[in-house]
Amino acid sequence: MAFAEFDLIDSYFTHRQPQRSDVVVGIGDDGAVLNCPANNQLVVVTDTMVAGVHFDQHVPARAIGHKIVAVNLSDLAAMGAEPAWVSLALTLPSIDHEWLTGFAQGLRDICEYYGCQLIGGDTTQGPLSVTVTAHGWLPQGTAIRRDGAKPGDWLFVSGALGDAGLALAAQQKRIRIADDHYRRACERLFMPSPRVALGQSLRGIASSAIDVSDGLVADLQHLLKASHVGARLSLQELPLSLAMTESVDQQRAIELALTSGDDYELCFTVPESRRGVFDTLVARSASKPTCIGRITSEPGKLKLELDGEPWQLAQPAGYQHFQTTTAFEHDQ
Ligand SMILES: [Mg+2]
Repeated sequence: MAFAEFDLIDSYFTHRQPQRSDVVVGIGDDGAVLNCPANNQLVVVTDTMVAGVHFDQHVPARAIGHKIVAVNLSDLAAMGAEPAWVSLALTLPSIDHEWLTGFAQGLRDICEYYGCQLIGGDTTQGPLSVTVTAHGWLPQGTAIRRDGAKPGDWLFVSGALGDAGLALAAQQKRIRIADDHYRRACERLFMPSPRVALGQSLRGIASSAIDVSDGLVADLQHLLKASHVGARLSLQELPLSLAMTESVDQQRAIELALTSGDDYELCFTVPESRRGVFDTLVARSASKPTCIGRITSEPGKLKLELDGEPWQLAQPAGYQHFQTTTAFEHDQ
């Protein structure tokens, strides 16, 4: 394939792009030139999605365009950052105009919604894979990090957990669920909503945060490790959707909520001293995070309790990636 054909791909991404005033030079030159606001810090995140690993050939291109930006914005949200710019590296086996139109639309729509601008990228020929780097801003010194949790802090999670895993389990016919529940769960799997507004509002309130991309247990353990603390989870408090509670029993629902990936909710800690400010904030906001436990002083120790009784995960720890790797391969 001629290089010129790949150059044409740029036209898919320059069309109807949202324009930010801080972009001096965007797509079309060797590099982007960007104005940086004074007294802010730049936050940079990158995520890759590979065909056959993170998605299969049945996933619509528009959903892939949406999701690759969403997962990056979810990382920015976990830091408390305001998204500004994204760049794209796209590897395609061949030029498929229908696929490119859908992909570009998904990418453009989510960028427009969150006010970010695509500022450049690269296109190459090879097995299908998409990488996005997102840039966001934080007022100096306000980053919400993984290492700030302290014993006694309250542990919260946004939204509902496990729906993406529920969709995948239904898709693989491991469980049977009603059509409308399946549609809603698939929406969570393919078109996730990063918690951008919540992340920013937690600056100065949350002592630590992480986004739930690999499953609550796996991601919470990263936070506990970084903060040198433990946690006690009250599993009866886990936020579950109606699709979840009406489709599977409590044991299965808890397992999905704890271990299935792709939720893109925020898991964060709030010190007792900020609890009042936090409660006031969420009382006025659309997102209603749920308190699911408390931080303890035992480093790395995650205690799971259901109605006060100890609870064991049926699956071994570290098994969390099965949903996004081998699972799709079984389906093909
Ligand atoms: Mg993350």
